[in-house]
Amino acid sequence: MLIYDTLSRKVRKFVPIRKGEVRIYTCGPSVYSAPHLGNFRTYVLEDVVKRALIFNGYRVIHVMNITDIEDKMVRAARGSMKRLREIARENERRFFEASRRLKLLPADHYPRATENIEAMVALIKRLVKKGLAYRDERGNIFFDVSRFPRYGMISHYRFRGELGGRIYKDDYFQSEAGDFILWKAWQKSDGDICWETELGRGRPGWHIECSAMSIRYLGIPFDIHMGGIDNVFSHHENEIAQTAGATGKIPARYWMHVRHLMISGKKMSKSLGRSYTLEELVKLGYGCDEIRAHLLSRHYRRRLNFTLRGLRGTAREVARCRALVGRLEKVGGGSDSEAADRLIDQTLSEFTRHINNDIDTPAAMDSLCSMVGELDRLLARGGSAPETRRGR
Ligand SMILES: [Zn+2]
Repeated sequence: MLIYDTLSRKVRKFVPIRKGEVRIYTCGPSVYSAPHLGNFRTYVLEDVVKRALIFNGYRVIHVMNITDIEDKMVRAARGSMKRLREIARENERRFFEASRRLKLLPADHYPRATENIEAMVALIKRLVKKGLAYRDERGNIFFDVSRFPRYGMISHYRFRGELGGRIYKDDYFQSEAGDFILWKAWQKSDGDICWETELGRGRPGWHIECSAMSIRYLGIPFDIHMGGIDNVFSHHENEIAQTAGATGKIPARYWMHVRHLMISGKKMSKSLGRSYTLEELVKLGYGCDEIRAHLLSRHYRRRLNFTLRGLRGTAREVARCRALVGRLEKVGGGSDSEAADRLIDQTLSEFTRHINNDIDTPAAMDSLCSMVGELDRLLARGGSAPETRRGR
């Protein structure tokens, strides 16, 4: 199986660390709001990677975190821990419901950030002890990027003397880069959203959450780390600095990133007011299988511009597949069975080849669609069906 690795910027042959087993960490939803379709493009692609690995005979151990504490959560909860938990649980519920409807295989663990504060505190203490992190006059703790010379290794951004400042917020752009926050000392606007820890009263920064949880649930290094393309910087750059800084090891062997889902030529984004949720599309009459197929209709390293017209096009293809399955169930074996069997074998091997070639879902779907066309023709000729192959 070949996959594109953002860290080495190469398509690489996948070789697991432990024979027959693959450990995967995927950055899960921030549950300050219901996840939109753009988030699900990433999760659906991650699901295909996971299914491909299972199909190839690997045992997969998958961890997806739930980010239930970060700046946007605190803002949404307006300083109330009770409200924060209510918002988090409600959006978690919506996330799991949409995941089920989109047929995502469940992860083995869904650690919540708020239930792993101790592991984060321990990791931050380790970084301070190693001289990689420092406390400011207000009690905030920052990672000192000047002490980590490989900073920039995954975003492939050359920082030249522009790393002077300190970044308090969780999410930011490369142009703002500097020492990033690990621990946020309590301030009035946090209300009762805080933890009393050995580091003092406060809350963790977003990036330390994934370092702490991946170390705890998978061990370091693990095989594949996945996320959306906008995680590359700052989230994954900072995660590498933290984990490698503390343990001496880069957290994962392969890093895969899914590009944006676009809407009207711009990134689908809740905060920018351009998004659809799965629930909204279902209300408009679209089926979840059709939506899933549409999210896979373009290669994951290319942007997908989402339009309802495009979705309707995919829905027609899915309907053709369904209709064929219906017809095949009605007819028995016949004179063309051998031809049909050959066609199916050929399609299965083509399909597998495309998926194993850096998860080329559009090419795989094309070969499936042309098989459907061929089988339709065979059936129309009065021949028949690959009775023995049903259900493969
Ligand atoms: Zn993460």
